[in-house]
Amino acid sequence: MLARVGPLSTTGPAHGEHESVRGPDMHPMVKPALRRGWRDLNTVQFGMAPAHALTLGPVDLATGSFLDLLDGTRGLPLLREEGHKMDLPEGHVDLLVERLSRAGLLDDARGGGPAADALREDEEALDRLRPDLASLSLTTSEPGAAMGRLAARRAQRVQVRGAGRVGAVLASLLSGAGIGEVDVLDGGRVEPWDVAPGGLPAESVGDRRSDSARRAVRRAAPGRPARRGPAAPPEDGGPGFSLVVLAPRDDIAVHAPPPSAADPFMAVGTPHLYAGVAEGTGIVGPFVLPGETGCAGCLQEHRTDRDPAWPRLITQWRSGSQRRVRPCDLALATTVAGLAAAHALAFLDGHLPSSAGTRWEAALPGLNWHARQIPAHPGCPCGAAGRTEEEGEREHVARKGDRRETMAGQRPSAGVRREAGAARPAGTWRAHV
Ligand SMILES: [Zn+2]
Repeated sequence: MLARVGPLSTTGPAHGEHESVRGPDMHPMVKPALRRGWRDLNTVQFGMAPAHALTLGPVDLATGSFLDLLDGTRGLPLLREEGHKMDLPEGHVDLLVERLSRAGLLDDARGGGPAADALREDEEALDRLRPDLASLSLTTSEPGAAMGRLAARRAQRVQVRGAGRVGAVLASLLSGAGIGEVDVLDGGRVEPWDVAPGGLPAESVGDRRSDSARRAVRRAAPGRPARRGPAAPPEDGGPGFSLVVLAPRDDIAVHAPPPSAADPFMAVGTPHLYAGVAEGTGIVGPFVLPGETGCAGCLQEHRTDRDPAWPRLITQWRSGSQRRVRPCDLALATTVAGLAAAHALAFLDGHLPSSAGTRWEAALPGLNWHARQIPAHPGCPCGAAGRTEEEGEREHVARKGDRRETMAGQRPSAGVRREAGAARPAGTWRAHV
């Protein structure tokens, strides 16, 4: 069963104020990303896949026909005129726009603010990003918000550490998805086995890895102004990067990420995400909000608790001879790059991805994805364990007392987390088929 929104019939009870929801320049558009179908004579289903589908009803025939006019080409004054011609009752058009908007079904062809306007002028870039824009309309509710999010990506700076089969592809994906500045860091020169479709090309073998990866990033977003020079971005992952992705080529660093590698990000609170392939296992996560969710240090502490031999093994792996060529299935590496990029984008778009405090792992050849929780560890200096306890207590108090008042005292990033959970476009209207 889908959630129902309604009633929207011209004869239905008209509860709710007839407030005009948007500015006079709003050009309402029923989100084209959701396929429409009539479930019966007066119920419209928007969307196919249960995650974002909902139904609207009762919708009478006149209203149903009017929905076709909400395609982003008309402003509200013209729509009111059209409604009048179709004998819709006075105020019905505004009511309909208001309700569709509240249900998260409405976009604004001219919304999103000044950054969105600038992106609209860059037609080439926008045309390339149209499927991403349509997809963003499914995870945002406010009219114009999808365009606003897409435009906001252009102002974001992400650093990817590691330019092998995973890192270079991942960096290209982020760039191709509209992230304005993607910096890639790695040492050495491109080896033949670093080459991957979408990542480092065969003709770059022998070039400096980071240079070649930066070229791949530029190719993924042609027409974008040149990035800052390699020396300009803070190489310590300090302030300025919205996110750092650690995608080491070294499989030991993937399997057992050394906590020290994240010290600079932990120190300044830069969110970071781990991704890579270790032997036949693809790994995405954890996504770390420093001091709030389980980090590489927490992971290490938990492993040591569970397996007394862990430190001994790690020492042997790290001191053993380095293999030149490590096992890394090309398709698995690409999958990891893609999934990690999607998690990164979810965060950059204002949500909390499911890799927060979790490692997603899939092993060849079955490739079932498993979520391995990385809870905050009390022995880890990151302090997330204390934070979790503190929050747990606050939540407890909140449940007993005045929730809003208790919530108000929380840190911004904790707010982000809650917002992420609550940022379901259609709110309570959303349900599964
Ligand atoms: Zn930790």
